[in-house]
Amino acid sequence: MFTLPMAKGWLASLSKVLEDNRSRLTDLDAAIGDADHGINICRGFAAALASVEKENPTDFAALFKLISVALIKNTGGASGPLYGTFFLKLSLTLTGESASPAELYKGFISGMQGIKQLGHSSPGEKTMLDTFAPAFEAMNKAIDAGEDFKSIAKALVAAAKSGADSTLPMLATKGRASYLAERSIGHLDPGAVSAYLLLKTLGEQIS
Ligand code: ADP
Ligand code: MG
Repeated sequence: MFTLPMAKGWLASLSKVLEDNRSRLTDLDAAIGDADHGINICRGFAAALASVEKENPTDFAALFKLISVALIKNTGGASGPLYGTFFLKLSLTLTGESASPAELYKGFISGMQGIKQLGHSSPGEKTMLDTFAPAFEAMNKAIDAGEDFKSIAKALVAAAKSGADSTLPMLATKGRASYLAERSIGHLDPGAVSAYLLLKTLGEQIS
């Protein structure tokens, strides 16, 4: 089961890992965007962690709602509302204090739909969706195969990694990187890498 302490641990570790990767994410954004992704995302998740530590939510709905609001309010750039929507949808789907892998998967799919709707985007356009879509697909496959939670998480994280890496040769057609057209090819998408870190830190809570 995925539990409330695991979700809180995920947020704390994600905030730290993003901080450790701040300059890497900003460098990636310097190549195909405006060099602020690391700054944006660190500010957003630090605010989310501070808000959760202050309010001490007692169920998933309250926890993910606090994260969502903090991200939307504090993250500059396109990624703020996109990640904010992801967590808002999670707050509407996961309501109790623990969730089965299948329930967590349902929440993630709803979160990803929220990103697609808000961003008018789909996988294959060199965005965070190129990490999320294959990762959730692999998660679903592992659930269907009856694997245990640890193996499900492992499959999710491995697919997230190859999803993020798959953005290297892609042509960007959404977001700021799309302004570069062909020149966006040959660079990793910063949002795809931060989405990988998000799922990697989640996986670490489960394994
Ligand atoms: P900005 O592009 O406004 O400076 P950030 O640098 O924080 O915002 O975030 C850029 C990331 O947001 C991109 O690398 C991409 O992964 C993601 N992104 C941008 N636009 C979209 C979209 N329409 N749909 C999904 N993801 C998007
Ligand atoms: Mg940017």
